[in-house]
Amino acid sequence: MAQSVLELKAIERSYIQGPNTLTILDKADFALMPGEIVALVAPSGTGKSTLLHVAGLLEQPDGGDVIINGQSCSTLSDDERTAIRRNEIGFVYQFHHLLPEFTALENVMMPQLIAGLNPAEAKERAEQLLAYMKLGARAEHRPAELSGGEQQRVAIARAVANAPLVLLADEPTGNLDPATAGYVFEALEALVRHSGLAGIIATHNEDLAKRMDRRVTLSQGRVVEIP
Ligand code: ADP
Repeated sequence: MAQSVLELKAIERSYIQGPNTLTILDKADFALMPGEIVALVAPSGTGKSTLLHVAGLLEQPDGGDVIINGQSCSTLSDDERTAIRRNEIGFVYQFHHLLPEFTALENVMMPQLIAGLNPAEAKERAEQLLAYMKLGARAEHRPAELSGGEQQRVAIARAVANAPLVLLADEPTGNLDPATAGYVFEALEALVRHSGLAGIIATHNEDLAKRMDRRVTLSQGRVVEIP
């Protein structure tokens, strides 16, 4: 059997809220296979963001292990986790978080420059990604000059700029009107499939979720398949 690109093993995560301990993930197990796109569908407040943050090494779990491409991450140093996060994980959030003073092209170049690519290579790849997202004509525009759907497509291009193994998207179309959401989701799916990435996409949108390879939800702190 193929090795998973991302595995969560018995993940535990609780938050202290005043006198209460809120258990969000309780021995949660999950495996993402290469090339697979999984929709994470669950009501607000159940822990979708927490799961994505733990999976993407942004948050340390209280227990359990995250295994990325065969590498156990629980005992790594902060620097080692940051390196894996930069190289292997792409994030897309509900809000685009683009840098406002830079153009679309520069925003997509940025993670590549941070990773040490030379500017000419970074520019070429950024141009290709923006063209793939049908944003070639918008490359020199700043985020404020782009529509919500265009901003999100730039953010998706940026998330895959360093050719990660896994894309983690947290309600990536949650801020968009239904028609734009459908279009952006299609573009996201096409890019993930085209790049051979695997992805977890948290969404409230059942129609979009149904187009993914698998759907999972959170129940009592565990990840369970939706048949
Ligand atoms: P979702 O993404 O499904 O809306 P979250 O993962 O954001 O859910 O949050 C799950 C629960 O954990 C919520 O009840 C939220 O209030 C709580 N929570 C999230 N982050 C924190 C935090 N840093 N401190 C305390 N409680 C938190």
